[in-house]
Amino acid sequence: MAANKQTVVVLGAGINGAALARELLLSGVSVVVVDSGDIACGATAWSTRLIHGGLRYLEYGEVGLVRESLAERDRLLRLAPHLVKPLRFYLPVEGRFGGLWAAGARLVGCESLARAWRGKHGRGSWTIAAGLTLYDLLSFGSPCPRHRMVRAGGVGLPSVDKRAFPLAGMYSDAQLLYPERFTVELLLDAAQIAAESGADFIIKSHHTARLLLNGRLQIRPVTLGFEPSDTSVIELRPAAVVNATGAWVDRTLDLLADWGQPESPATSTGFFADTSGESSGAAHLIAGTKGSHLVVHSPRLREALGSYGVYAEAADGRPVFVLPFGDRLVLVGTTDIPYAGDPAEACTDEAEISYLLAAVARLFPAAAPDRHSVQQHYCGVRPLPFVRQVLGRSAPASVSRRHMLVRHPRAPLPAWSIVGGKLTTCRSLAEGAAAEVLNALHVPVQRTSVERPLPGACQGASRDQAAASALDSALRAGLSVSVARRVAEETTALFGARSRLVCAAMNARPDGLPPPNLLLPGLSLPFAAVGFCLREEWARNLEDLIERRLMLLFDERLSVAAIEAVAQGLVREQRLLPEQVGPAVAAYVSTCKKRYGRTLRQLPVAPQGSSESVE
Ligand SMILES: Cc1cc2nc3c(=O)[nH]c(=O)nc-3n(C[C@H](O)[C@H](O)[C@H](O)COP(=O)(O)OP(=O)(O)OC[C@H]3O[C@@H](n4cnc5c(N)ncnc54)[C@H](O)[C@@H]3O)c2cc1C
Repeated sequence: MAANKQTVVVLGAGINGAALARELLLSGVSVVVVDSGDIACGATAWSTRLIHGGLRYLEYGEVGLVRESLAERDRLLRLAPHLVKPLRFYLPVEGRFGGLWAAGARLVGCESLARAWRGKHGRGSWTIAAGLTLYDLLSFGSPCPRHRMVRAGGVGLPSVDKRAFPLAGMYSDAQLLYPERFTVELLLDAAQIAAESGADFIIKSHHTARLLLNGRLQIRPVTLGFEPSDTSVIELRPAAVVNATGAWVDRTLDLLADWGQPESPATSTGFFADTSGESSGAAHLIAGTKGSHLVVHSPRLREALGSYGVYAEAADGRPVFVLPFGDRLVLVGTTDIPYAGDPAEACTDEAEISYLLAAVARLFPAAAPDRHSVQQHYCGVRPLPFVRQVLGRSAPASVSRRHMLVRHPRAPLPAWSIVGGKLTTCRSLAEGAAAEVLNALHVPVQRTSVERPLPGACQGASRDQAAASALDSALRAGLSVSVARRVAEETTALFGARSRLVCAAMNARPDGLPPPNLLLPGLSLPFAAVGFCLREEWARNLEDLIERRLMLLFDERLSVAAIEAVAQGLVREQRLLPEQVGPAVAAYVSTCKKRYGRTLRQLPVAPQGSSESVE
């Protein structure tokens, strides 16, 4: 495939920007991705982490969106099986009747009427069965098991209060525990495609861009806390710019240049066929809502959940998910509150925590977690399209989750903004958006990602092989069999087939120095993974490593000692001076407390029968 000389700049390295960069490279254009923060540091990281058809959107008549999402769900289960896993859902029901009138009202767009008619008992089993039957029909051909209606209290089912919820619907969707790692892999694949085709591909994380009136784009570094920042300013003449900055879309347009906003709704290109008045004509593309989640450490609740995700309604009728978050934690989300501030500053408040805990207690009174079980919380802003209802009468939950590409005709070069979207539809969004951009640049679509696996994809025998190779490296590094097994397992869960590279790095001594420890203290990840992510995955600082590469933020075993070890990894790669370790660690520990409500213990708790035992 011949590389094209044109360069497209993608602003935003969230899941959508990353998927779009990859898709454009598949057709041979060069791509520069610019993110003012790290890869996937926005809504992508602060989502409910589900790859789902969106059962609830059926009530709003979004059949097309549900069909597309279900097809993408099944595709991602095939193309990224190391990260996207099937999850069976349990939907508790209070009685047989109820919800039919409300569902009808929603279908014709009367959300307030639907709320008034919802009644005391939410949706009955008839309404649920009808919705789940339609969901099955729309996922025709899917390998996922179909829905079933059951009585509560069966063996292996979640131990939801069976007096309050005697019945349940069960259906299939999927979970993407680490959308952050999924996004990194999209970009790794983009780099691979570029290397094969000869196109240029540059990622400038922790940089901002400004478009000059002469059509040139200036890319400047953002100052990092402790680590050395780039100092170079780049200028280039892109063939097109796509603003994929999610909830920041309007702010980015303000920063980028003053021609940003479309003049009227008619200027929207609407190739996803959703511009019918939803762009409003006001100088807003986005009207975000904030959604909070709790990460709960309660063995009782985790056991009560079993292997299911529970999808239910809170007392006010809002949807709530109670999900397994690995083997030991539970993820509870979410709220949906109109939010107009800087998305980077959105934070969970105590009222949201109480609301979510009450929703869990209503479902699981015998295993209700208390405030102390909340290990941490997090909050993201949904990049929802601006519609008048958000600020008016209707509920934020009723705003469409469809995406659209809005063109900016007054820009001095072809320019678009992506509005809305879900994790689930990142690939199909990218395919549609790339086709539109390439068409404007007169470049034919050469290949698409429709059958392209992610670099770490492995499943069944190929996963076993990857884990065996990681195990072999861990044993050669001198770990005991039981510890090496755990290391191979956890590394493969994060890096998929690439875990063999991470574990092989345990035996490599590029600088001739032995590592301070083979493993991060109290954890089952190799110290070598720190250097690997710095060299191979564009991580720049402590936060990038802990939150979005090694995923330690969500590990209940994370301690200050482990953060210090990660900081030592930065020193080793000459990204931090030895005297900066103390202040950098203290700053991160304080961020954990302030932003996520997480208090870290000083020293690691040794896992049973382990610690790093070298034989
Ligand atoms: C609470 C919540 C729950 C959700 N749950 C789900 C779910 O379970 N399943 C699902 O499918 N979807 C879910 N979503 C939706 C999904 O997370 C988002 O639609 C998706 O992550 C948006 O990705 P994005 O790449 O467009 O934006 P983001 O991930 O927000 O990325 C935008 C990027 O732009 C960068 N940026 C900001 N300003 C600039 C600038 N000026 N220049 C350069 N870069 C900039 C940011 O740093 C960020 O990295 C949820 C969203 C939220 C908030």
